[in-house]
This record gives sequence, C-alpha cells and structure tokens, in this order.
Amino acid sequence: MGSPGAGKGTLAANLRTLNAEHVSSGDLFRREMKRNTPVGIAIRKTMKRGELVPDHLTLGLMRKWFWGRKSARGFILDGFPRTRIQAVCFDEWMETRGEVLTACVLLELSESETVKRLSQRRICPKDGTVYHLAHNPPRCEGRCDSCGSTLVQREDDIEEVIRRRYAIYERLTRPLADHYANLGLLSVFSAEIPQEELTARIFETFNLAPVPR
Ligand code: AMP
Repeated sequence: MGSPGAGKGTLAANLRTLNAEHVSSGDLFRREMKRNTPVGIAIRKTMKRGELVPDHLTLGLMRKWFWGRKSARGFILDGFPRTRIQAVCFDEWMETRGEVLTACVLLELSESETVKRLSQRRICPKDGTVYHLAHNPPRCEGRCDSCGSTLVQREDDIEEVIRRRYAIYERLTRPLADHYANLGLLSVFSAEIPQEELTARIFETFNLAPVPR
C-alpha cells in the first residue's frame, strides 16, 4: 500500500528476486484500457479523473487474475486492496484458498512530495521504464534509454489529478492501515528512503533471501 507515486511498483520490481508472482491492479487496468474493452473504456474515464475504479470492476478483474493461479513463492499485490470492501473480499478469497497474508507494507509520502514526483514522471510505453525529469532524466530528451521509444506522461499525472488521487488515498485507502495493524501485519516505511536502501530494509525486516533461479 502507499500513496500515489510512493514507489509501490518500483519496490515490487526490486523484490523480483523473491520469485513471487507480482500483480499491480493499476497495470491490469491499463492493459484493459489498451485493449479498448467496454470495461477498459469505463476505467479510462475514472482513472483520468484520478478516482478509484469502482469496487465491482476492481474485484472482478483481480478475482479473474487470481482464479486458479498458484505460486509456490507467494504473491506481491501492488495497489490492491485500496478500499474497505476490497480488503474484506480479499480476506475472504484468502480464506477460501487456504492461504494467509504475511505482511502489509505501507509506503508513506507527503502530498507536496507526491506532486513533485508525479508531475515530472515520464514513462516508456513500450518497456515500462520510469524516468523523472529532474532526478532520473533520460540520456536523450523525451526518449527511452533502452528502447528509444517516445516517453509519455500518464493521463493521471497532472497536478490537479494528482491532488485528487492523494485526497482519495487519505480518505479511502490510508484507513485500511488500521485493519492490517489490528491483524499485526502492518509495517510502515518512509517512501523518501532511496529505493535500494528500502529494498534492503524490507529484506531485513521480513527475514527474506533472494531465491536462486
Ligand atoms: P496505480 O498504477 O497503482 O497508481 O493506479 C492507477 C489508477 O488505477 C488509480 O489512480 C486508480 O484509478 C486505479 N486503481 C488501481 N488500483 C485500484 C484499486 N485497487 N481500486 C480502485 N482503483 C484502482
């Protein structure tokens, strides 16, 4: 869990040596939008406004993804659940599957830092590499270092929309931290810690080790 731009996706990518299955609800939605399905078209309008996709659509897509999927090394959920209803349904899914949630990591970032980070974020539409115009600019302006594609700005990375996303996060998602704290599963980290150090701290906190391939 984390506020928009806190680095959930980057952290999940840095944990790939755990060999767990990674799923990002935001990525599932963007994939659906690209395919221009009726659900994808409905999602685009919601995301563009910076609002959360309605629970029934989110739960439908996530459930479909989970359905019958097994992973010996577990799962990393990035950006799901984000509302109380999603959290309750997710608890039920886990019970049905006979699996348990082992940890909830919350990355915290202030609103002003969120705006600074996201308004200057640019993304490669082809390979997903993320750049920041000030802190991690591409070598050649507007082009991906690895594949040369033209970088894009996400439709929801515009200041007004970023502020709305942050307000919604505080109202609907942040309160879920109490749910996971009550279950004894919550660990909170500052999202301002450099990613490498954050990854190392996560490995240490949860006593994890990379899995040899
Ligand atoms: P993200 O890629 O995690 O920043 O998500 C981008 C956008 O996708 C969010 O601003 C929401 O509109 C939507 N979204 C992602 N995950 C969820 C979720 N679990 N519930 C509702 N909407 C979501």
